[in-house]
Amino acid sequence: MLFTLSTRLPVILSVGPGLLGRIDQIIARHNLSFPNKLVVTMPVLKSIVISQIDGSCHDIFLVENYCLTEADRLIKHLESCPPDTLILAVGGGQVIDVVKYAATRAAMNYLSIPTALSNDGIYSPVIVLSDSSKRIRTNGNVPLGIVVDTAIVKSAPKAAIRSGIGDVISNRAALFDWQLASDKYGEFVNDFARTLSMMSYDMLLTLDPDDFGSEDFISRLAYCLVMSGLAMEIAGSSRPCSGSEHAISHAIDELFPQRSNYHGIQVGAATPFILRLHGQNTAILEEFMNKIGLPVSLEQCGFMPDEIARILIHARDSRSRKTILNEVDLAEAQKFC
Ligand SMILES: [Zn+2]
Repeated sequence: MLFTLSTRLPVILSVGPGLLGRIDQIIARHNLSFPNKLVVTMPVLKSIVISQIDGSCHDIFLVENYCLTEADRLIKHLESCPPDTLILAVGGGQVIDVVKYAATRAAMNYLSIPTALSNDGIYSPVIVLSDSSKRIRTNGNVPLGIVVDTAIVKSAPKAAIRSGIGDVISNRAALFDWQLASDKYGEFVNDFARTLSMMSYDMLLTLDPDDFGSEDFISRLAYCLVMSGLAMEIAGSSRPCSGSEHAISHAIDELFPQRSNYHGIQVGAATPFILRLHGQNTAILEEFMNKIGLPVSLEQCGFMPDEIARILIHARDSRSRKTILNEVDLAEAQKFC
């Protein structure tokens, strides 16, 4: 008997300028055809989408917020669409998560068309939605394809691009935590997932910070984020790209919701601290982050020492995933912040 693993790969990966106007062409190039399409986007993007997307007769569904109830409203809408309808999710990570959730429940194909590269959710199976006061994390289907129109992403706020960079940077800390959990608690580490997560990080650090924001830089960032997503898909969890630095970011969102920043900026800022706890030298990484304009510490995100102490305790206690935060005296550890 032959033993192999299979994983769900999107059929399409297209990155380049002007692709929003060539969706039909991209789909046809992959020998696919979807006569019925539903565009799901945000009200603020409606005019851009209508003016740029090819095929003027697409049905449009506007996502008003990023709650579970909104995803349920989309599921209801999908019931009135022909079953072979292709959903085009055009927007930020939250629009893509709403579509990922609804498309998975409705067993329909969707294209992930991010207008900002602020996190690795453009491909990952992970979905984060709000439900009244709390956040819900669940898994969904991978998209039929990922189409990144670099001309549109280029016009997104620079902070969103920095956030995408921070989310890739966090892979390094997540991998050290994963290895620790394996060494100390026997957690299984999938080496393909680990390799892809590491490659994503390594490729990012080869980018020239002086080139930040160019279409070439954005293209490469897109590939890094896709590699991170593939690592999570292979692992079957977010483990290769999410460790204690993500727990810290979630703690900030829960304890200080009024002061929370982009997800990737927070996980990136927590990464040098976590790497130092793992005994790593962070000088080269911090130099790169400084040039990109990313904060390299929670202090640079505006938190005082007593607030950081609360964040670290909350991060350690609110997640079952074993990380370096379970292994150190947090009061002592804070000296490495
Ligand atoms: Zn992340």
